[in-house]
Amino acid sequence: MHGGRFLIGVDVGGTKVSVALVEESAQVIGEAKRPTPLTSSRAILEAVKELIDNLLLTNQLSPSDILAIGLGVAGMINFKEGIVVFSPNLPLRDIPFRDLVYQYYKIPTFLDNDANTATLGEKYYGAGRDVSNMVCITLGTGIGGGIIIENKLYRGTTGSAAEIGHMIIDLNGPECTCGSFGCFEALASGWAIAKQARQAVKKAENSAILRLAQDRPENITTEIVAAAANEGDLLARQIFANIGRVVGVGLTNIVNIFNPELVVIAGGMAELGELILGPARELVQTQALIPNSQVVNIVQTELAGRAGVMGAAALAWHEMSL
Ligand SMILES: [Zn+2]
Repeated sequence: MHGGRFLIGVDVGGTKVSVALVEESAQVIGEAKRPTPLTSSRAILEAVKELIDNLLLTNQLSPSDILAIGLGVAGMINFKEGIVVFSPNLPLRDIPFRDLVYQYYKIPTFLDNDANTATLGEKYYGAGRDVSNMVCITLGTGIGGGIIIENKLYRGTTGSAAEIGHMIIDLNGPECTCGSFGCFEALASGWAIAKQARQAVKKAENSAILRLAQDRPENITTEIVAAAANEGDLLARQIFANIGRVVGVGLTNIVNIFNPELVVIAGGMAELGELILGPARELVQTQALIPNSQVVNIVQTELAGRAGVMGAAALAWHEMSL
């Protein structure tokens, strides 16, 4: 095995590339980030190398001090081959990203999607440190997730397991980005909330949602609905109560199938906290089977802003430990 004792986690997102140098004890030694160059795959690779090189230099380390590198990218990933098949917000299509990084540093390198890395981040460095069976749900603009069974990430036959966002909740529901109808994501993601609020304000003209959106329904975002809810706006609170119940339905399905000890809610919408988690927990308590509903803890992420890089470092650690 490679002798280094540090891990490098790289999070390639649509707006920024972030890199962290992590000690085995989970201590973050150094961090660096820069805006994502969206011109080409080569520019992204150069940005990753520049950030890693600088981090090694400022910490007086060489590649031989690094145990492994983990790369997290939002999109469709072929984990076995280390290829970014497609990424919605990045110019990466059929790019052997893992091997391109490996060829430069000659350090074991792993690549996975951001939902799986977020899950591993929680498992190794976050809320899931002490559990063997857990599910992580990333609630954001879209909905993703990851599944840990007996301490191992479950990837499925083709690496596309845990597409929690496309679990169908209501076949008569609204159309989803995947072409199906009534998916979890079409009912409870950030884009679904904004869409529901734009509809709802038509019948509630004195809602704070509309005022905060400067009377323009097309300006409504999840953040605006959240701000209105925090002001006590009834319509906004009603929207979140409904979303929380839908999240509860999704969680009930997950809890009944996997019987996890823990479900971690991560992603941008995790910040909404009890607005969503309250009604979601209540629904799981009344609808999920006993003992499944009794043993599961439903909590918010402990990593928040660092989830991307810590998750990528955790991917490296997870794969080296197998
Ligand atoms: Zn879908």
